[in-house]
Amino acid sequence: MNIAFIAHDRKKDEMVNFVIAYEQVFKDHMLYSTGTTGKRIMEQTELQVQRFMSGPLGGDQQIGALVAKDEMDLIIFLRDPLMAQPHEPDITALLRLCDVQGIPVATNVATAELLTNALARGEFGWRELVHKYKPGEWQA
Ligand code: PGA
Repeated sequence: MNIAFIAHDRKKDEMVNFVIAYEQVFKDHMLYSTGTTGKRIMEQTELQVQRFMSGPLGGDQQIGALVAKDEMDLIIFLRDPLMAQPHEPDITALLRLCDVQGIPVATNVATAELLTNALARGEFGWRELVHKYKPGEWQA
């Protein structure tokens, strides 16, 4: 599966701790992130992460481009709900595209745990069906 990590500045420690806790699950997947989030994850785990630009410079949009093509299977996006972000429109756009494509997205660590445990149990198999069949072909 293709998994993306994004964490706002005051959520980066929480993200790193979360990824350390589930490193054994994430090591079997293709991992992506915004710039600084990925740097922190790679510094503190053995994981390899494909880093995009920093969020405020367009990283959310780069991940959004993969979402638009239905090439992302899970997004863990630890947002800071108590601080305004300069790139708020990009964040809204990314979440909107997740809803357009039906991509699982966790915006807090409680949901991230539930989705990651589902991933560990192999419950993301339906994403392979999504890759196989285009929208509109489900009824066939
Ligand atoms: P960053 O981007 O990982 O480069 O900090 C995330 C963000 O703040 O949107």
